[in-house]
Amino acid sequence: MNKIKVETKILTKNEQKAKFLRGVFKQKGVLVLNFLSSPGSGKTSLLEQILPKLVKCYRVAVIEGDLATENDAERIRKLGVLAYQINTHGACHLESSGIEKALGEFDLDKIDILIIENVGNLVCPASFDLGEDYKIVLISTTEGEDKPVKYPTVIKVSSAMIINKIDLLPLLDFDVEKCANYAKGINPRIDTFFISCKTGAGIDKVVKWIEDKFHEKRNLCGC
Ligand code: MG
Ligand code: ZN
Repeated sequence: MNKIKVETKILTKNEQKAKFLRGVFKQKGVLVLNFLSSPGSGKTSLLEQILPKLVKCYRVAVIEGDLATENDAERIRKLGVLAYQINTHGACHLESSGIEKALGEFDLDKIDILIIENVGNLVCPASFDLGEDYKIVLISTTEGEDKPVKYPTVIKVSSAMIINKIDLLPLLDFDVEKCANYAKGINPRIDTFFISCKTGAGIDKVVKWIEDKFHEKRNLCGC
């Protein structure tokens, strides 16, 4: 089989399992978020900011994806939040089969929101459906403001873009408006947030967005 055929086959298998998982999540009323970014954009730091706020009202669990180490899951567990670490041993993205396996560690009847932190990579995680409700992409101000146009696929499939490390803006040439406009040009429906995990700026708006999505999924009107 040539390379394209093999990749198509893997994707189809992944999509079938993702569809199955989406059905399970729907039945259980679990909101599932899949966070994507380059390495070092601050996905785990963002979780450290939003989880203490979310756990006040919701039962949250986290699946961490990394090539190696249990480090990120341990950071999440320190907050008292259930976390399962997937080590991909070289694979640069998570697949739905890995999520299915991780679910064996959780009781979905006791979870409202499941957060997946994907492997740090802006390319193939965008193409692998994990059964999530929403993909959320993070970009940090220490990266190029043209990231959205360089990686249009991840912008197209994401419902929200979070620009992190805005506390560093005085030191950098990163133009946040330009970055946001690039993203809107590719995906006009994308919601954009400007945050700093260091100072906490903008974090409440992200939490509110997640709460709204959860209420939408459960047909609730408040916390
Ligand atoms: Mg991380
Ligand atoms: Zn990959």
